[in-house]
Parts: sequence; C-alpha cells; structure tokens
Amino acid sequence: MILADLTWKEVDALSRDTIVVIPTGSLEQHAAFLPVFTDSLIATAVSQAVEARTTDKILLTPCLWLGASGHHINFVGTCSASMQGYIESLKAVIESFERHGFHRFLIINGHGGNDQPNGVTLRMIKEQKQHLTLGHSLYAKFGEATIAEQLQGKLNTMQHACEAEVSLMLHLHPDKVRTSLLRDDGLRSQPPTQTLVKMWDEISEEGSFGFATLGTAEKGKAIFEACVDGLVQEIEAIHRGIAFHGIF
Ligand SMILES: [Zn+2]
Repeated sequence: MILADLTWKEVDALSRDTIVVIPTGSLEQHAAFLPVFTDSLIATAVSQAVEARTTDKILLTPCLWLGASGHHINFVGTCSASMQGYIESLKAVIESFERHGFHRFLIINGHGGNDQPNGVTLRMIKEQKQHLTLGHSLYAKFGEATIAEQLQGKLNTMQHACEAEVSLMLHLHPDKVRTSLLRDDGLRSQPPTQTLVKMWDEISEEGSFGFATLGTAEKGKAIFEACVDGLVQEIEAIHRGIAFHGIF
C-alpha cells in the first residue's frame, strides 16, 4: 500500500503486522551530469517496484529526502540535515506508526551517508522497544553480485555518480542524465592513508567517484531488477519470520 494515497481511516484499517517501509534518500550533488535528487529518485523507484510485488504486506511511506549529506555540503545545491537532526526525523517517522501499533519497519536506503545513522537510529529504538522488528539496508546491497557482474570499470561496487548510478538513472530517468557531460572522476592513485574522514571535494573535482562514462540503461535494468528481487525476498522473509515466531 502507498501511504500517500490513503486516508487515515484506510491506514487504520490495515493489519498492524503490515511492514512500514521507509525509503531514505538525499538531495545532494551528483557531479555535473546527474540531478541532486538522484538518490531519492532511485530509492523511490526501487521501493515502488518492491511495493507493486508486496502490496498487501507493506505500507510504503514517501522518501525521506533530507539526508545526512554534510560531506557533500561544499557543493552548492546540496541540502543536508545535521546528523542529530537526521536521526530525530527518522525516529519521528517510526514512532508515529509505532504509537498506533505498527511494529515492523524496514528502511530502504539510497544514500551511503545515511547508512550509519540509519543503523544507529534503529539500535537506539530497539534497545528501548525490543518488541519491534527493525531492518535497514542500502538497496544496492541486494544487487551486489549483479553490480559486480555488470560493471566494466575497475571498480565493481556502487560508488557515487558512478557507472552503477548512471546506469540506474539511464534506465529509470534517461531524460535527467546529462550524457554529454559524463566523465570519470575521483580516480586518483591510491592515497597513502586509508582511514581519514573526508569532505567530498577532497575526493573528487566535480563530485563523482567512478567510471560514469561506462553507464548504460541495460546495466541499469539488470541492477534495478536484482535489487528489487532481493528486497522482495527480504520482505517476504520478514513477513514469514514474524508469522513463524507467532506460532511458538
Ligand atoms: Zn547517489
């Protein structure tokens, strides 16, 4: 079910075993060739495709688009919550449903910078409310094998405004990709240190990391479908797991 399309009475009529699915994205620079809403667009598209196949099991909220993007803030057009503000807003969404009896939550994340705060938020909630079922993952985690298989550049994992993200956008929103501006970036030789926390303009000149020029819609379709398939299985497993737990 799509939350934004329902009335409150229709939400109230749902089983409280329904899994509340929250996409998390960002509004941050994605180099000169992808729009700033890229992460939110992909997280939304993946979540909607998942919802179409699990509609009676989930309640899909709109994408939480204000992400933890402080590391991109030196590029104009980026909007970021503070880390604490991000955690508080995610917590508020979960608690809004929890007070009405919903007890299963899954975050489908489209932005790497949200990954740690998503985990911290769920750990904090879980320690207080242990009866809740709480899960989170980057959508790309479910497409790792396909991503490694599809990508032709030297990097075979999801990066930022990279071969994989360009491919996904060429598949989902080809009109939004500035194909004449695609360039590979962020690929300087390995630095001597491996541990430092960096701002994104220390990593890349124009804001990307990867072989964006190798992106194609075909690769994007394969990656998209793998991520959706994996997430559908995950939702079915969460659904079954709780039903199983309830028997004993
Ligand atoms: Zn991105």
